Amino acid sequence: MNPYRASLLFIAPECAPLVKTGGLGDVCAALPPALRALGIDARVLMPGYRNVLHGVSSRRVGRARLLGRDVELLEARLEDVPLLVLDCPALYDRPGGPYQDERGADWPDNDERFAVLSRAAALLATGASPLEWRPELVHCNDWQSALVPVYLALESQPARPRTILTIHNLAFQGNFDAGALERAGLPASLHTVEGLEFYGKVSFLKGGLLHADALTTVSPTYAREIQHAGQGCGMEGVLSRRSADLHGILNGIDERVWDPARDPHLAARYAHGDLEGKRANKAALQARMGLDADASVPLFGCVGRMTEQKGTDLIIEAGGELARLGQLAIVGAGSPALQEAARALAARHPGRIAVHVGFSEPLAHLVEAGADLFLMPSRYEPCGLNQMYSQRYGTPPIARATGGLSDTIVEGATGFLFGPASAAALVEAARRALACYADGAAWRRIQLAGMSRDFSWGAAARRYADLYRKLAIPQPA
Ligand code: ADP
Repeated sequence: MNPYRASLLFIAPECAPLVKTGGLGDVCAALPPALRALGIDARVLMPGYRNVLHGVSSRRVGRARLLGRDVELLEARLEDVPLLVLDCPALYDRPGGPYQDERGADWPDNDERFAVLSRAAALLATGASPLEWRPELVHCNDWQSALVPVYLALESQPARPRTILTIHNLAFQGNFDAGALERAGLPASLHTVEGLEFYGKVSFLKGGLLHADALTTVSPTYAREIQHAGQGCGMEGVLSRRSADLHGILNGIDERVWDPARDPHLAARYAHGDLEGKRANKAALQARMGLDADASVPLFGCVGRMTEQKGTDLIIEAGGELARLGQLAIVGAGSPALQEAARALAARHPGRIAVHVGFSEPLAHLVEAGADLFLMPSRYEPCGLNQMYSQRYGTPPIARATGGLSDTIVEGATGFLFGPASAAALVEAARRALACYADGAAWRRIQLAGMSRDFSWGAAARRYADLYRKLAIPQPA
């Protein structure tokens, strides 16, 4: 089939390495270049956060007044991808994170911040754009850009671009007080159950779910799960009505960044053909975390947000048992109560359990390489990246059978899955994994099977390109 050369505006609420709070930042960094490699003219739009303004060199290409704010559009490049930065210092140039201040409280004007981003994207997609370049498709990500399809639906333009909204985590919905509609410049008539009203609030995400031409989420299993009450987060009705337009497309991983053969954060590099370097990484991880130096004890690792979603509480509850079975290295930050509980657990098991509270990219890489087994007992998991990294690093995952974990781990062949969200089920799966670990040849087969899987973005990008092609407006001959 001929390459599909559409022009695409990809909206990135965060983008690694400039700004990242989780997997969304990784996706926004990796998917656009993979789409460009297929011939799609993908350009990224992101807010002018402080780190973005300081992290790229740019030139001004336009200005506009949006929702009462003067904004400027800057043009830059992120590696080979054209980047459009929405500069509005009053909204984005702040210390702290993209959605929260330095103490972890949501910015009080998040509705305005992301309504302006969405409004800017809608402007770029119409005749009023300050750029000559016009996208045929707009790819929105999560609630932060979910108003784009709403704004475009209100435009009278006949040839508006097609919109895709990807749900990275349905739990984040951008729900605000009723005044948010007016602040976003949207008509009060949208404040209905058929519109953006959601349990008395205004939901940006719901607006996108209703109005985008296509919806995607980041794994086929999660696409099914969110159409039901257990994981639908209240949106299951809307999502099941749009079932025919909802597609599950697995994320890939950035294989340039997550490659044990050239990872600069490792103590030693290694590859499929020779896993010897893993030993040095285990020793380095034990030293770095203050675990006993012992090559023979199995080492469980875990990296991620400390939340109930990720099952951090299950790991803590299972901690005593895991410390009997081996060592445990936990790297993460999140809920203060879970951080405290993790620290207390480590204090009870010196040399056997260690915790690093905080965000550390180098340490995350070292855990993937130095641990023997990777724990991911998520209660729900839209896609998850760490279990793919761990397979690539020869560190088989032990994970709950949910969402993207079910879709990326082959039970007994590349990792270990368990059902109930309980510490007992986690420990049972850990024992099962250790029985295999004790058999050197069987373990090596599992490591190598995981390492040779294709989790590249190329495969994901081809699925998106197929979807774009189906959505595209036929061009006049
Ligand atoms: P999420 O639901 O948080 O997006 P994912 O598994 O999809 O979960 O992606 C998480 C990403 O964030 C991974 O790249 C992971 O390594 C990284 N990460 C999470 N917490 C930390 C931390 N404390 N230090 C370093 N990296 C982290």
